[in-house]
Amino acid sequence: SPLPALAPNDSVWKEDLLVHGLTETVVGVLGGGQLGRMLCQAASQMAIKVIVLDPQKNCPASSLAYDHMVGSFNDSATVQEFARRCGVLTVEIEHVDVATLEMLEKEGIVCHPNASTIQVIQDKYIQKVYFSKHGIPLPDFMQIDNLDEAKRAGNLFGYPLMVKSKRLAYDGRGNAVVKSEKEISSAVTALGGYAQGLYVEKWAPFVKELAVIVARGRDDSILCYPVVETIHKENICHIVKAPANVPWKISKLATDVAYKAVSSLEGAGVYAVELFLTRDGQILLNEVAPRPHNSGHHTIESCLTSQYEQHLRAVVGLPLGDPSMKTPAAIMYNILGEDEGEAGFDLAHKQIGRALKIPGSTIHWYDKPDIRKQRKMGHITIVGPTMSIVETRLNALLNEEESLDC
Ligand code: ATP
Ligand code: MG
Ligand code: MG
Repeated sequence: SPLPALAPNDSVWKEDLLVHGLTETVVGVLGGGQLGRMLCQAASQMAIKVIVLDPQKNCPASSLAYDHMVGSFNDSATVQEFARRCGVLTVEIEHVDVATLEMLEKEGIVCHPNASTIQVIQDKYIQKVYFSKHGIPLPDFMQIDNLDEAKRAGNLFGYPLMVKSKRLAYDGRGNAVVKSEKEISSAVTALGGYAQGLYVEKWAPFVKELAVIVARGRDDSILCYPVVETIHKENICHIVKAPANVPWKISKLATDVAYKAVSSLEGAGVYAVELFLTRDGQILLNEVAPRPHNSGHHTIESCLTSQYEQHLRAVVGLPLGDPSMKTPAAIMYNILGEDEGEAGFDLAHKQIGRALKIPGSTIHWYDKPDIRKQRKMGHITIVGPTMSIVETRLNALLNEEESLDC
């Protein structure tokens, strides 16, 4: 490789390449998916060096990272070797070897967010216990270790009942909706059985799902992005509208809950707080992600500081940037795989072809080597002078019959 070796103590490399930049800190990211890729894009603008650890040779971040170490973020020896090359360790996925991060922190390696935060968040049940102890409103929940306990939860919380895996969940994989007591067993089997670690949540009768990206600096300063509405299809984030169309009071309440949730955690970075807005105007916390998030993709085009730039500023200890919107309205649309193989790529490319002709739209293609149904392949952000104009533009993208003259 023509690149100099990535040794933090290599003074020649440091002096030649880093001393005149924004920071000397090499940022190591565990995971090299689309979030890692967009972190690298923001980093290149500020000449911050980001290296990623991901098992897949051609992962989305690979071609844009300063360096890519091929290996597992769940293998202790690999994480340790990777950490030695970084000034700060961060994550783009929470399902990492947190025991190793704890050990590294004890040795003086800086991790943001802190290992303790990732540990709380990566187990959704522990996360719920933690936030309820900190007075954050959330749906009732209960651990279930056998059928009797599950039935008891059903009697207590009613149906439909949400059964969730404690660990390794994403895009709704790990969730099952149970409509009656009879359905408990099949749902538990589908989730891999009680031994996997399951818990249940009372159904949240939400009218909207909202999300707030909260940034926290190394000096513990906290800034919140505008509240957005997230629209899910089959448990997967499909569309994000920024700002959310909710009364000012709701927006303030959502921001307050998100602020309080993130204040209770330790470590710098951006966090995404997923929320339910119920019919009676309550805000309940769904879950927190300790990293940039799908609900914040729009910030690249619509905010003064994108969530990716903000995350880098936060973890290296630069001042946080302004999270305000610079466009009146934005919609983010996820390009999800609709088929496998070439047929899937053809459908995605058709959509991109239409997006290219829509004013205010920006295309992000993650360059994943394979396409599968429901896989996040890219996204399109549309900005415009009003939400109704942006909605018209989205309709033009989604309906082939509709004219692109918008
Ligand atoms: P992510 O990709 O956001 O990490 P995940 O796999 O962790 O998703 P959740 O966020 O727990 O899954 O749930 C996915 C979706 O399922 C939510 O956005 C919401 O639409 C629905 N959902 C989750 N919990 C509940 C609940 N208690 N009541 C009603 N709907 C729920
Ligand atoms: Mg989740
Ligand atoms: Mg979620």
